[in-house]
Amino acid sequence: MTIEFIDLKAQQARIKDKLDVRIQAVLAGGAYIMGPEVRELEGKLAEFCGAKHALTCANGTDALHLALMALGAKAGDAIFCPSFTFAATAEIVPHVGATPVFVDVDGRTFNMCVKSLKRAIVHAKELGLRPAGIIPVDLFGLPADYEPIETIARENGMWIIADSAQGFGATYKDRTTGSIGDIATTSFFPAKPLGCYGDGGAVFTSNDELAALIGSFRVHGKGSDKYDNVRIGVNSRLDTLQAAILLEKLAIYADELDARQVVARRYSALLSGRFQVPYIPNEMRSVWAQYTLRAASTEQRDAAMSALKAQNIPSVVYYPMPLHQQGAYKNYPADPAGLSTCTDLAKTVFSLPMHPYLTAEQQELVCAAIAKAGC
Ligand SMILES: *Cc1c(COP(=O)(O)O)cnc(C)c1O
Repeated sequence: MTIEFIDLKAQQARIKDKLDVRIQAVLAGGAYIMGPEVRELEGKLAEFCGAKHALTCANGTDALHLALMALGAKAGDAIFCPSFTFAATAEIVPHVGATPVFVDVDGRTFNMCVKSLKRAIVHAKELGLRPAGIIPVDLFGLPADYEPIETIARENGMWIIADSAQGFGATYKDRTTGSIGDIATTSFFPAKPLGCYGDGGAVFTSNDELAALIGSFRVHGKGSDKYDNVRIGVNSRLDTLQAAILLEKLAIYADELDARQVVARRYSALLSGRFQVPYIPNEMRSVWAQYTLRAASTEQRDAAMSALKAQNIPSVVYYPMPLHQQGAYKNYPADPAGLSTCTDLAKTVFSLPMHPYLTAEQQELVCAAIAKAGC
């Protein structure tokens, strides 16, 4: 039995006939860019999460870039990002001339630490930067702790871009990610919880003005039409084919999210006590982009991963180095108290195979392999 880290084949087998019909319709229709499936998908994405507007684009990194452009981020702006995340979260900040300021994460949720955020804001002001915005990340599918972050944003006149590349459709109290933040972004990279068969992304907002700006920026800063250019934009659209594929994937997404809860619960029942299993605060629901364990030491993690490898079971370290230590980012400001949780997580976490089609039998094999190594 082979155990896939993310089993896209099982999902494809489930909806293959519908995908074929959708793909043929796009081929026959010929509207390969901004075809009717793009609008249909945008309507359904907005409905799914409760945002007023959903605008698709070329990938999750562009979604963040479009959000920053629409919010007018510029030189002198400090933009606060967790350091324990994928590089794209911070990467787009210097592209608009602004300064990423790195914030530590919470040791239980792995999401932005509010105390560290407060210290980082004070520090940015001391450096002469203007606190402009916060980019919380819904890491591994779990929503960031938005309420305290929203309070801090309000108090400081800052905006929030929720980087929900890994967390689209998660629950935070009575809200769904995608509808949280001044703008939320997601990615449809194939391995994300809601992925297409190539690159794709989306930007969400309930603000009409921001939606209009994003719609313009993604098509070369268009005004009344694409040959009327009123601002400097980019070319960032979702292909009609990918939208068609996503329509069928979105149709089963709620069901897949339920299945992911079952898989995560089974792992935690089998592994708690040996590792720090994922912590889901009250009134939150993760979409389980990853099922990530925290070991007591690097040695314990490496032993567990070697034991899995010996049984041909994949496991991955997300992320082996926090951003504030990476060559490209190490000279940007950070919480002056240090980012010790980010640094420690990079040394101790590892992620197990996670997808909605994982069976109890497969999960038992994964856990037995780890147990056999005495971890
Ligand atoms: C994947 C990811 C992105 C970028 O998405 P792409 O579609 O790969 O550009 C941004 N932020 C986070 C947290 C991600 O995991």
